[in-house]
Amino acid sequence: MEPTAQISADHLTGRLRDLYDLLAAAAEAGLPCPSNTDLMDKGIVVGDHTRCTEALQRLSKMGLIKIEAGVNWRRVTVLATGKATAKSNGSRQGRVRRMAPSALGGATVNIRPAKRTCLRCRRKFESQGPHNQMCGPCRNAASEIAA
Ligand SMILES: [Zn+2]
Repeated sequence: MEPTAQISADHLTGRLRDLYDLLAAAAEAGLPCPSNTDLMDKGIVVGDHTRCTEALQRLSKMGLIKIEAGVNWRRVTVLATGKATAKSNGSRQGRVRRMAPSALGGATVNIRPAKRTCLRCRRKFESQGPHNQMCGPCRNAASEIAA
């Protein structure tokens, strides 16, 4: 039987190494598996939840860890030591940071305020969008007239 092509963790570099070390430390201490949000907060995975999953699966494919996951939890066993993390509690994973504008790159361009000419007084002002055709003072005046 062929020996399994196991890669030693010593050959890991960069963020994958950091990820492995973090998992190994959590397993050693019996702590919950770090959540995707934890990984992104620590800068170990850059991107989104998909990237976190990919990074874990890379370690798994290298034969370094075993991943068990359910609907709202994840547990990683470090095969070198046989130690496993506790189940992560995924209930609060990454709802907040996921759509941070900085992560979206150029996608924020569409919602940038534009310079428009006020329909009423003809002055330039920062419009919040196509619905916004009058400058602040004119809108206030208009709503007072309407009221
Ligand atoms: Zn105006």
